[in-house]
Amino acid sequence: MLADLHTHTTASDGLNTPADNVRMAKESGLQAIAITDHDAVSGIEEAIEMAKQIGIEVIPGIEVSTIEKGQDIHILGYFIRYQDQEFLQKLDELQHVRARRNEMMIHALQNIGIDITLAEVKAKVRRKDANVGRPHIGEVLIEKGIVHTMEEGFDRYLGKNGKAYVNPKRISPEEGIDIIKKAGGVPVLAHPGIYHDDEVVVRLIGYGLAGLEAYHPDHDNESERKYKKLADEYGILATAGSDFHGSRNEVMFHAPIGGKTVSYEVVKQLKRLAFNMQTS
Ligand SMILES: [Zn+2]
Ligand SMILES: [Zn+2]
Repeated sequence: MLADLHTHTTASDGLNTPADNVRMAKESGLQAIAITDHDAVSGIEEAIEMAKQIGIEVIPGIEVSTIEKGQDIHILGYFIRYQDQEFLQKLDELQHVRARRNEMMIHALQNIGIDITLAEVKAKVRRKDANVGRPHIGEVLIEKGIVHTMEEGFDRYLGKNGKAYVNPKRISPEEGIDIIKKAGGVPVLAHPGIYHDDEVVVRLIGYGLAGLEAYHPDHDNESERKYKKLADEYGILATAGSDFHGSRNEVMFHAPIGGKTVSYEVVKQLKRLAFNMQTS
């Protein structure tokens, strides 16, 4: 009984529909799959519909983008009340910031002589209500032959050491945790190993994280062990997720669905925490 607790769909920058993700999860023999789009919940309903048809569990989730000392910190939220009006209003605000960031990054690319426009990037979005994100920009870079893979796109231009990386003012990780908790969700720090800032990790545990995503395709064995141990030390959950985004030009960005999994026991614990939060 396994679960993949981190997947993206066309509701943000994934390539597959929410229904696709659910089907693939079923095919990989998973018991449950979380839909965790960037600052978006518009894929959840479709995923739940498909899940009912084929007999698998969908965990309504989100991955909230926040910023700390100029770098992106992502907070996963599980069992959120994705129809909560106040929560949806908040997401709307976050999406405005996202849109501005995309424009800034495209400008930065143009300034270093790369021929790319916002319209080209927007054309890569597959759903009317979807969020535009960095992988959409990467897709244009690949199409134009400027880079060969998404990974190269992030290394050279879009990632935190990339030439076109910008990060306008966004909410703090603490605010991200608050937004998730207010919507009845359980906050878990996504891919702690990529921040190289364990002071922040420990601070956020103190602030109320319920778990660390110890197992992620961008973590090596050593960091998986390290964050599992840290989670154990603080008595919080160690979670796992593939961070599935689909594959472009046959190259998988992060891992396939089921590429990183955790025991269904962890899902039960997340559910218990959400229940306690929503009834307290
Ligand atoms: Zn992330
Ligand atoms: Zn993600």
